[in-house]
Amino acid sequence: MPVETNNKKRPKKQPQARQFGGSLLILFTILLLLNFIVPSFGSRLPQVPYSDFITQVEADRVDRAIVGSDRIEFALKPETEGESQVFTTTPITIDLDLPKILREHNVKYAAPAPNNNGWIGTILSWVIPPLIFFGIWGFLINRQGGGPAALTVGKSKARIYSEGTTGVKFSDVAGVEEAKQEVQEVVDFLKNAGKYTKLGAKIPKGVLLVGPPGTGKTLLAKAIAGEAGVPFFSISGSEFIELFVGVGAARVRDLFEQAKQQAPCIVFIDELDALGKSRGGANGFVGGNDEREQTLNQLLTEMDGFDANTGVIIIAATNRPEILDPALRRPGRFDRQVVVDRPDKVGREAILKVHARNVKLADDVDLLTVAGRTPGFAGADLANLVNEAALLAARQNREAVAMSDFNEAIERVVAGLERRSRVLNENEKKTVAYHEVGHAIIGALMPGAGKVEKISVVPRGVGALGYTVQMPEEDRFLMIEDELRGRIAILLGGRSAEELIFGKVSTGASDDIQKATDLAERAVTLYGMSDELGPVAFEKIQQEFLGGYSNPRRSVSPKVAEDIDREVKDIVDGAHHIALSILDQNRDLLEETAQILLQQEILEGKQLHTQLNKVQTPPELDEWLRTGKLSPDQPLMQSVLV
Ligand code: ADP
Ligand code: MG
Ligand code: ZN
Repeated sequence: MPVETNNKKRPKKQPQARQFGGSLLILFTILLLLNFIVPSFGSRLPQVPYSDFITQVEADRVDRAIVGSDRIEFALKPETEGESQVFTTTPITIDLDLPKILREHNVKYAAPAPNNNGWIGTILSWVIPPLIFFGIWGFLINRQGGGPAALTVGKSKARIYSEGTTGVKFSDVAGVEEAKQEVQEVVDFLKNAGKYTKLGAKIPKGVLLVGPPGTGKTLLAKAIAGEAGVPFFSISGSEFIELFVGVGAARVRDLFEQAKQQAPCIVFIDELDALGKSRGGANGFVGGNDEREQTLNQLLTEMDGFDANTGVIIIAATNRPEILDPALRRPGRFDRQVVVDRPDKVGREAILKVHARNVKLADDVDLLTVAGRTPGFAGADLANLVNEAALLAARQNREAVAMSDFNEAIERVVAGLERRSRVLNENEKKTVAYHEVGHAIIGALMPGAGKVEKISVVPRGVGALGYTVQMPEEDRFLMIEDELRGRIAILLGGRSAEELIFGKVSTGASDDIQKATDLAERAVTLYGMSDELGPVAFEKIQQEFLGGYSNPRRSVSPKVAEDIDREVKDIVDGAHHIALSILDQNRDLLEETAQILLQQEILEGKQLHTQLNKVQTPPELDEWLRTGKLSPDQPLMQSVLV
């Protein structure tokens, strides 16, 4: 980009260059104003049309005139003793006949003096511009405390919370006990620096908080400042780079300048990844991004440049540690990494308690149960959940927030808003009901999938026409081979039920199929679960914490690509067959349950469990779960569709 090409050598001079530009701008504005103001100093005389002037001359009433090329000033003959009246007029063009007419009517005339503003005008036009200029300048300097607005782009925009005013304490951060212990040390450094420096120990300069979004990294950084009672400078990585090229580096410099003056203090850089992306084109851009690189370099320089014991500690947060420039992690920079991970069940309960502190809870609310029903929720999700539940209770004018509010809030977060206004026709509703019961029946049999808690044919959220809620009994961090197969079968259960009952499928299963295929592909290319291809990774893991991005394939030979595709298809096909087989053997149950669901729209609790307890396990299920293959003497359940 052309803007950035001449940018390399500039940053050092930037502020002066900008000041100069700013002054020019102001000067220019003033000159423009003067152009309008100064000429009017001398022209307070009444203005009359040119034709009137000629009429007056011809009527012999004009005594004298000063004739300029664009302005004529004339005085009438005094009617009685005293002052004569003076007027001005603007000539149409340079009237060559005018001198002759004037002479004929005995008017004394002359050309204007070189400066007809008079000496006062002259002096004013010299004195006033600088006065205005310095006036504006002074005003802006006073207001901004550093320079006119146009000149402050190089200033850091860090929000400063001074001593203790982040108001956050460690007790506000829950469920991340290990991380809290790690950073406890930092608080100690800030409070009793002497204890460490006395022994010659160097205080760490940088701490990097790493973890998925919403787990409380920002909160934890504030809590460190709050506990230590020191000022907290906070700026986000993307803020360094916005607006003007060449400013990021200046901002970094300014930020550290301010921080050093207020030490001991904390400088918090949020979203460090926006700034500290690996240089050297690791992400495919050649030539790099000058602006970001310079800002990053400046940050590294500043971090190296100050003495460890000045008491400035830099905390940065990122959810993409894998893309950070390795230079950032060198000793003396962000050499400490603290992982802030999603909370486990106990942690979730603790976080719920923190956020329920100011919420009135009914007696039936058990936060541990809520925690059990929210695996995978981060702190921010839980904070949101408590608020949603409170809003629901308030909407119904209830005195306290009940367990039912929490359940509804969880469903809202997981599946989206209920949309009773979306009316399905009879056929659609029937299809959805069988589809969901299909998921539920397969789900009841598969290991590690948890209890099926609810089936509903009330549309929710953006796409779901119906849904099945299955809650794992505990947090799981690994999926064993058979569970993964089971998961794929559950996903295909909906579609299999449609096939079995109606002999044709709807478009409603596309999301299930997508997910099932993705899982099967990952089993082969990431988890090394294929016997044939073995534990070879065919995909590169790129995003550590942000799900939903497809990973790039390693370059593989066409033969291997074909093998992968076949293996994936085998897994999906196997799951499809077992799902069909299970549903076929439980066909009566499927019919019965779907009919109940159609009548009630929602099936849950005891009634649902009674239904699902009747599910019969087909003999071939065990072997399939173990091997992913159906034994040859088991007739394959043929798909109804070809
Ligand atoms: P991150 O910076 O990791 O993306 P934040 O610190 O911005 O997450 O968290 C957003 C909000 O979520 C916090 O203000 C807080 O209300 C809530 N929250 C997140 N994690 C926690 C936690 N561990 N304990 C209590 N509240 C949390
Ligand atoms: Mg954050
Ligand atoms: Zn489905």
